[in-house]
Amino acid sequence: MNPSLRLTVLCLVAVLVGPGCASGPEPAASEPRAPHGVGDLLIRNASLLITMDPALGEGPLGIVEGGDVLLEGGRIAAVGRGLEGRGRKSLDASGKIVMPGFVDTHDHLWQSIIRGCAADRDLYGWLEACVYPLGRVPFGAQDAYAAVRLATLGLIGTGVTTVLDWSHAFNPGFVEGNLRALRDSGLRFVFAYWVAPPGGCSEAARIQQDLVGEGLAAGFQVAAHPTLANLDQLKEAARCAGELHVPLNVHLGESPKDPQQKQVRALELSGAFDGSLLADHAIHLTDREVELLARHRVAVAHNPLSNMRLASGIMRLPEMHGAGLRIGLGLDGGTADGPDMFASMKAAVGLQRARLQSASAYPGIADVLRMATLGGAEALGLDKITGSLTPGKRADLIILDTKGANFAPRWDGPSQIVLNGQPANVEYVFVDGRALKAEGRLPEGQEKNAVQAVEAAAHRVRAALSASGVRPPAGGD
Ligand SMILES: [Zn+2]
Repeated sequence: MNPSLRLTVLCLVAVLVGPGCASGPEPAASEPRAPHGVGDLLIRNASLLITMDPALGEGPLGIVEGGDVLLEGGRIAAVGRGLEGRGRKSLDASGKIVMPGFVDTHDHLWQSIIRGCAADRDLYGWLEACVYPLGRVPFGAQDAYAAVRLATLGLIGTGVTTVLDWSHAFNPGFVEGNLRALRDSGLRFVFAYWVAPPGGCSEAARIQQDLVGEGLAAGFQVAAHPTLANLDQLKEAARCAGELHVPLNVHLGESPKDPQQKQVRALELSGAFDGSLLADHAIHLTDREVELLARHRVAVAHNPLSNMRLASGIMRLPEMHGAGLRIGLGLDGGTADGPDMFASMKAAVGLQRARLQSASAYPGIADVLRMATLGGAEALGLDKITGSLTPGKRADLIILDTKGANFAPRWDGPSQIVLNGQPANVEYVFVDGRALKAEGRLPEGQEKNAVQAVEAAAHRVRAALSASGVRPPAGGD
C-alpha cells in the first residue's frame, strides 16, 4: 500500500468509528481511490427504512420502522427487525432514516469548472458562452481531473451513489483525467462517451474494454447529439452503440428551438430506436413522439433544476409516466450550479403542481423518491444491482440524520425528505459497502484539496480562453 493510500484508509476508518484525522496530503494531480475493506456492518434500529422494495415493507416504498440492514461483502445481506450482527461492527441508526443512495441519471461532471457562468442566458446562449469555447482551448487531464473530482465530492455530499457522466470528451487527455477522477471517487458510474472526436468508435471500444475491468463499479454508453444536419455522425454513433452492445445517450427536445432540428426524425433515420436509448430532458415532444419513445422502450432523464435555470421548459412528466416511460432524475452538470438531489426532487414535484394547478399531479412524494433511486437505476439498466435495499444488491445506501433544525419537528419522513431535506442531512454514504461519507463529513482534506485544484484549473482554462481571444465567462477572475 502506498503512503497516501494508507493515510486515506486511516482517515476514513477514523471518520467512521470516531475521532477525526490529521490533515490530508498536499494537493496532488490524483488522489487514491476510495478504499475497500471498511468491513461488514450491521446498521441497527433505524427509525425508518425506506427499502424501495414493496416486498420488504409497507406501501410502495417498502417502509420498515425500527429496522436493521446487514452489509456483507459489499452487498446487502439482510433487511428486517432484530437482525443478528454475528460479531460484526454495528452502527446505531436510532432516529435516522436509511434508504438507497440517489441515482443521478444525467450529469456533465466537468462543468463544475463553469459554475455560475452566464446566469442570464438560455440553453444555447449558455452553451455559446460557457461550453463551446472550452472545446477550443487546452483542457487536459489535470484540469478535467480537478473539475470532475470536485463534482464527485459534491455528489457524495448530497447522497448520490451512482452517476451517469455524459462526457464531452474534448480530447484524449481530458478523457483520461475525467475517468481517473470518476474511479477515485468510489462512486458507481456510467461513462457516456461522445464518439464525435477523432478516434470514434475504436476509441470508444478501447475505453469500454478498459472499464470492463471495473466490474459492476463502472458502465459505458455512447453519447451523441441528434440532428438531421449531423445525421451521418448520429448514424455512426448508433452503429457504434449497437456494436458495443451499450445504450445510446442523447439530449432530446431540451430547448424550445430543438424541434426545428427534427431530432426525433433523425433518431428514426439513424436506427437509434433499434437499440437501447436514453433520452435526456425530453421536454419539447409531441404526443406522437412520446408514444414513439414509449413504444421503443426509451428511458428518460428528467433534469428539473437545469430546465429551470436555462429557461428550457417543463417536461410533461405525468403524461410521459402515463405512457409507460422509465424516468430517472438527473442534476445535469454546471447548470445545476451545485449538486442537490433534495432540491431536484422538490422541483420535480413542484413544477408539475404549478403547471397543472393540482396537488395530486404526478409525481407525488413516493413517486419522486422512487424516481430518484430505483427509477434512475432502471433508466440506466442497473436495477438488478442497485436502487433498492433488496438483499443481494450492492450495498449502495445512505443514512439521513433527521435530528437537525431543518427537519424538526419530525412528522412524515418520506414527505420531509422531499420537502425539507438538505445535503447536510446526509450523514453516511455507502457504495459497495464502503463509507464515502461518514458522520456527516467527507474524509479530512478532500474538499480543501479539490477546491484548491479546481481554482488552479479554472485559472489555467480562463487564461487559455483569453490567449485564444475567447472572452472568459463574466465574473471569472
Ligand atoms: Zn446534459
